[in-house]
Amino acid sequence: MTDAILSVLAHPDDAEFLCAGTLIRLTREHGWQVHIASMTPGDCGSAEMPPDEIARVRRAEGAGAAAVLGATYHCVEERDLRIVYGEGPLERVVRLMRQVRPRVVLTHSPADYMLDHEQTSTIARAACFAAAVPNFLRERISERPLDHIPHLYYCDPIEGKDPLGRAVEPGLCIDISGVIETKAEMLARHASQREWLRKQHGMDQYVQAMRDWGAERGRPCGVAYAEGFRQHLGHSYPQDNLLGKLLGATTGHAGG
Ligand SMILES: [Zn+2]
Repeated sequence: MTDAILSVLAHPDDAEFLCAGTLIRLTREHGWQVHIASMTPGDCGSAEMPPDEIARVRRAEGAGAAAVLGATYHCVEERDLRIVYGEGPLERVVRLMRQVRPRVVLTHSPADYMLDHEQTSTIARAACFAAAVPNFLRERISERPLDHIPHLYYCDPIEGKDPLGRAVEPGLCIDISGVIETKAEMLARHASQREWLRKQHGMDQYVQAMRDWGAERGRPCGVAYAEGFRQHLGHSYPQDNLLGKLLGATTGHAGG
């Protein structure tokens, strides 16, 4: 069976900001299947369209971005600003994990700029554990349990800082210089968001912000563009740095 990677992030364009370069490299260099899940369809991501309408638009944008690299897009169908760790979302993410059967899971930093991201991180962490527990919701979930807990990595928080503004140093940096154009192409598929973010955050350059952040992460590692990650190393989670081994990660501290 082909190895699979699953990103579980809050909103439809988070993968294209935080980890798409790593996903592109895994599929191109190692033939991995890529699955991109967002917890919500981005139903609050518009000032003009009502929730159902913008959700429809953004599910299609998510699928379109994933299609750029032959990946599969999934929406867990929670709602913006209402992602809360609990039984329902946990069940849905465990189901998804048991269907996709990922060897590696990527999610948000446990501390990030907004609670949708932090709650998603908690849900993904718990789901990695629960997906390998045979008795977890046994009466409701028919999918076969995972053989073991997947390797879990946290993406950089947005702008590399926690809610108190403190810098979050990555444990490993993946060089994405060779795939930055494909990453930008994927992000550009989220056309509805460029206009929205300009109004909401005063951020005029949607794709440029992604490039700027990638360049900033790349600088200390001596590469043009990078994505930063930290591995979850709690008891019973895999301890070997699989992502680093596959993609030749440098540490975030290299060269200062
Ligand atoms: Zn987000």
